[in-house]
Amino acid sequence: MLSLENISVGYDATDVLHGVSITAQPGELTVILGANGSGKTTLFKTISGLLRTRSGTIEYNGHPIQRTRPNTIVKRGIAHCPEGRHLFGKMSVEKNLRLGTYPHRDRTRTEEILNEVLELFPILKEKSAQPAGSLSGGQQQMVAIGRALMSDPSLLILDEPSMGLAPLVGEQVLESIAQINRNGIGVLLSEQNAKASLAIAHRGYVLAEGRVVLADDAEKLLDNPQVQAA
Ligand code: ATP
Repeated sequence: MLSLENISVGYDATDVLHGVSITAQPGELTVILGANGSGKTTLFKTISGLLRTRSGTIEYNGHPIQRTRPNTIVKRGIAHCPEGRHLFGKMSVEKNLRLGTYPHRDRTRTEEILNEVLELFPILKEKSAQPAGSLSGGQQQMVAIGRALMSDPSLLILDEPSMGLAPLVGEQVLESIAQINRNGIGVLLSEQNAKASLAIAHRGYVLAEGRVVLADDAEKLLDNPQVQAA
């Protein structure tokens, strides 16, 4: 389980997250909703060790991780797929995927995970030798998600994976994420499309100006008029 207790995080003199508490149960899909600038990216960078908390605690499976380096956090089972994909456009799809392999994994397991990723996204199998930059936006997003899966995570953090994609393509990406979750991997997802993401989630939180303003089961949030307003 991932558990954030009362964390505050900021840049320079100002705090951006103010006493945020969130839990993500193992194997569940937890969605973080919120307008631009509400603090979703800051939250995810803090969990994966790229930003430090100013106060509060973060635990993953009972271990405190708020002072743990990003590479050790990956080793503990948390993979972060950042907003904006960040692929190496001239490198092949397969090489981009292999970059996500965590060094301590053995070869057999690596090939097994690569096969699982290519099964999940069959189009990437067809295009595995092509430069990643030549793929469509949706396919590039699949490479970014696949690369994060290559570290064999128990929790996958996805920062606005449907951002910049045509609505139908965005929905397909969300469907793949639901499949990843059905395969047993916990997912922490940020999305602006509240309806589509709550439809695949177990639990949701709404962030506004760095504070949790709503937390509930996804089903209940779907019916909550405050969600659309927020
Ligand atoms: P978006 O959907 O636009 O990415 P978000 O909910 O992910 O929004 P954050 O990117 O976490 O929000 O930003 C939260 C606040 O922190 C914003 O006011 C933003 O201007 C500020 N912020 C983000 N990154 C930095 C930075 N590197 N230095 C200073 N302020 C920052």
